[in-house]
Amino acid sequence: MKRLPLYLYALALVLAIAAAGRYFYERPLDFNSISFTAPCATPIAYTIGTIDPRFHLTKAELLTKLAAASALWNTAAGKTVLAYLPDDPHAMPVNFVYDARQQTVTLGQKIDSTEASQNGERTQLRSLQQSYLAAQQAYADAIANFNAASEQYAQEVQQSNAGGGADSQTYARLQAEQVRLKGQQTQLQTQGDTLASQAAELKSRIAAFNASVSQINQIVNTFNTSVGGDFEEGQYVEDTSGKRHIDIYAYKNQSELLHSLAHEFGHSLGLSHNENPVSIMFPYNKDGVKLSEDDIAALKVACKLP
Ligand SMILES: [Zn+2]
Repeated sequence: MKRLPLYLYALALVLAIAAAGRYFYERPLDFNSISFTAPCATPIAYTIGTIDPRFHLTKAELLTKLAAASALWNTAAGKTVLAYLPDDPHAMPVNFVYDARQQTVTLGQKIDSTEASQNGERTQLRSLQQSYLAAQQAYADAIANFNAASEQYAQEVQQSNAGGGADSQTYARLQAEQVRLKGQQTQLQTQGDTLASQAAELKSRIAAFNASVSQINQIVNTFNTSVGGDFEEGQYVEDTSGKRHIDIYAYKNQSELLHSLAHEFGHSLGLSHNENPVSIMFPYNKDGVKLSEDDIAALKVACKLP
């Protein structure tokens, strides 16, 4: 009786976990000069300056964000302290200056989205691998049972032949067993082929996945070594003649954009940084979109509000 080979597909699921390369662009102490005009006596007029097209930011989108950022301060002040006045020749322009900082953010977004899709693929591969391993185990058990039955059959045939042949009843039983074993063998061979092709497919998916993880790890490394440091998201500048402008350099999402605008507006109103981590004026917070108690207290001092 021919023995069936026992197919065993060793499958190594090598999951390199993408290094948690977190880019963060904290805000170093930025320039905040002494205001030469009476604080909040008249609203600070602002307008849209130059928007580098690489930000893909439309004027309408920016206007909405500027309105929301100025509304935070206007509401807290109980009066208009910041006003969009595009026709005012002295209006403070808000510019969007594109450089390596926004490029970095874009690269970071690519890393984030790739990681997200890789996490999905990783989960799926793990579950496929588990199903495969269960099927492989069931197959190995079936092979073992088959081999034991084959062994039993061979021994019975041998004993029967050694004893001068089987009686008709034993002969019929052994014949039936042989037919059953042959049928089972065919079935197991088909099952083995199916498992082999499943394993090949899974292996190639895992290889592709590992290649993509290795690729994103390289991008993360490049990212961390080249631009991993802190940088300013924006800056409020006021020169000695009182001429002022805001430059925005980088933002990762809409709430960071709103935050940066509100933060630089805060400087334009004469506010410095404060140490409350949830403050708009906290130097390192980048996604808060609400004024903290400390921001409001500082505004009241700066604007001499009751
Ligand atoms: Zn600042």
